[in-house]
Amino acid sequence: MSRAEIVVDVAAIRHNVGLLRRHVGVPVMAVVKADGYGHGLVEAARAAREGGAEWLGVASLDEALALREAGDTGRLLCWLLVPAEDPTPAVRHGIDVTAYTLADLDRLADVARAIDVRPRVQLKIDTGLSRGGATPAQWPALVERARGLELAGLARISGIWSHFSSSEEPDDPANEAQEKVFREALDLAAEAGLRPEVRHLANSAAALLRPSSRFDLVRCGLATYGLDPAPGLSPDLGLVPAMTVRADLALVKDVEAGAQVSYNHTWTADRPTTLGLVPVGYAEGILRHAGNRAEVLVGGERRPVRGRICMDQFVVDLGGDHPAPGDEVLLWGPGTHGEPTADDWAVASETISYEIVTRIGGRMTRRYV
Ligand code: PLP
Repeated sequence: MSRAEIVVDVAAIRHNVGLLRRHVGVPVMAVVKADGYGHGLVEAARAAREGGAEWLGVASLDEALALREAGDTGRLLCWLLVPAEDPTPAVRHGIDVTAYTLADLDRLADVARAIDVRPRVQLKIDTGLSRGGATPAQWPALVERARGLELAGLARISGIWSHFSSSEEPDDPANEAQEKVFREALDLAAEAGLRPEVRHLANSAAALLRPSSRFDLVRCGLATYGLDPAPGLSPDLGLVPAMTVRADLALVKDVEAGAQVSYNHTWTADRPTTLGLVPVGYAEGILRHAGNRAEVLVGGERRPVRGRICMDQFVVDLGGDHPAPGDEVLLWGPGTHGEPTADDWAVASETISYEIVTRIGGRMTRRYV
């Protein structure tokens, strides 16, 4: 036990992946980028595999290689190499790499010639997010080059994929529009003779809310960790949040009415009260915006954060109760003991739960249970 830690319930990750797998009826790619959404890359990946994830997905080459180094030998997709990165290690390790451009394909063909290994390449079509991927105008040329490389034995086109902009808002017409562009891109690729093993479009929210977007597999990040991909969706489904953030109460003290709390005195006690000091701050990834907005659980009760979040600490109002210094503070968790959730912190911080869980860290330790 340390003074402030992230406790990760790996059984919850296993459970969530198993549940998703059964619910969607297609293979699941557990997205474990960004240190497993703050849950730990290798540990999250291992739990996801045990839960039945046929695929893992990461953004960077380093993340993909770290998984191979940790012994993961399964299907693994990496989607954001930069020009300075040499894809050779990815090809050697049988990692699927994403090609957005003709230059990406040519670079992979060079690797194939150099090491005599056929790269597994997934083509990305930009269906409307305007991030990575070939635009529909660029798509025919990308497909033609890819098919040429395949026929020359210089690449195996293992997948075709894209990514939604607004899947957590199922009524947004962008979803339908993107899916239509995706289907057209698949048709064109098929006409050109490409037969990818997997075609995929859906993230967690789409996997759950838009069955037509499931294709051959779904890429689930948020749901893998038990977080709600869209308001109210996960409790019904039975997803279990895997992350709990806890700390020891560093100090408890009584103050008079009129006490002004933390930097710039943004909160003033209107009555005598008891303040508790929580030894976690923005250096640990607690967003400053949560000052005067978020709550924590101490002694079974919700306690409001008072004043600004500081670099190493923040203050909570214990309302006249006197828990002992060293008592447990639950910042967030599954909510089963009455503690706030990552979603509650997201609301208090005016952000999304993705940012809450991926930012938390700093000097905190991580413990797996
Ligand atoms: N696919 C891609 C390309 C992503 O970038 C992400 C995460 O942002 C995901 C899938 C997983 O999304 P989610 O966490 O909403 O399931």
